[in-house]
Amino acid sequence: MASPALLKRLARQHGTPLFVVDHAILRKNLATFRQQLPRVQPYFAVKANSLPEIVRTFYRAGASFDVASIAEFRTVVDNIKDWPPKKQQDFIWDKIIYANPIKDKRTLEELNPYKPLVTYDNLAEVHKIRQYAPDAGLILRLSVPNTGSVVELASKFGAPPGEAVNLIEAAAAAGLTVEGLSFHVGSQCTNFQNYIQALALADSVMKEAWSRGHRQVRILDIGGGFPAPYDAHVRPFRDLARTLRAEFTRLFPPDMEILAEPGRFLVATACTLVAEVIGKADRNGKRCYYINDGVYHTFSGILFDHCKYPVKAFRKGPTQLCAVFGPTCDALDTISLAEPLPELELGDLVYSPNIGAYSHASSTWFNGFPPAQVVHINQ
Ligand SMILES: *Cc1c(COP(=O)(O)O)cnc(C)c1O
Repeated sequence: MASPALLKRLARQHGTPLFVVDHAILRKNLATFRQQLPRVQPYFAVKANSLPEIVRTFYRAGASFDVASIAEFRTVVDNIKDWPPKKQQDFIWDKIIYANPIKDKRTLEELNPYKPLVTYDNLAEVHKIRQYAPDAGLILRLSVPNTGSVVELASKFGAPPGEAVNLIEAAAAAGLTVEGLSFHVGSQCTNFQNYIQALALADSVMKEAWSRGHRQVRILDIGGGFPAPYDAHVRPFRDLARTLRAEFTRLFPPDMEILAEPGRFLVATACTLVAEVIGKADRNGKRCYYINDGVYHTFSGILFDHCKYPVKAFRKGPTQLCAVFGPTCDALDTISLAEPLPELELGDLVYSPNIGAYSHASSTWFNGFPPAQVVHINQ
């Protein structure tokens, strides 16, 4: 995290609420991912934080991108150099995967000239892709256990492994090519067993596909879910990486292309929110602070991401458990009902570290309060 002194200086300079993005930490997180998983090409999941400056920093540092809407696709295309590919036969696969298994037909029409790599997990999608994006390469998304992940995805996406090879054959019968398999173990996955089970499932589907003649299935996309170190209970990434490396060596031939779609892991620790105390009251014996950012804004992850963010004071002093509310007129706009804080005055600043993922990206304009201003450091 940026130092408290720097955060205060930036807040004085730019005003609050202020979302501070530290690009040195973005680069460090990406470097850690690549050092620990040298066989894996990271495709940053843009939905975790879609600021164009972040896309550019990751691009310069060698990342590729996972997009899930046409707007995200354009954000990436507009912010990476040497684009579009000069030659018609150039595929964009080494830079972008379109990893939303459900795509509307207009999206497919717009993607098709790029010969994109897209995921699918059902038969209706095969017919749609054949009609509107016949030049796409396909990745079949498998349903895998999401046990214990903070954000579960298995109820919405993924083909049952038992239907997987039939879906590969259906795509082939439609004249499409399935290039690989993908899965997502659920976001903030602290149960590393999910990855082990998912790799075993993908391995058995892949070998069955090969045995039925589909030798072109050679990409394995291990999705996202890599946990951010929000607290001491999260086991370190290097433990997960060691497990993954061992499974890769055990299961997969060296020429298999492995990619991943880390979102949260790359951005969560790189951003800090600085807000200001704008109100203060004692209700039912509890001290309540009102700050100028909340659940409809940078703290949206409390609702959408099942995440908790500590609110910390710069001021020192004995603490009591306080409630912290956002600025809107909705009682849902509650950041915490038990936050240890010292005595604060109106105008004091508070901050929340590790708030880079699924936060600013899902901020709204509810009640007329705009999303936090963004400032970039160490760019
Ligand atoms: C959201 C998402 C990701 C990123 O997940 P994290 O848990 O943030 O790493 C990756 N792939 C797909 C398909 C997603 O939907």
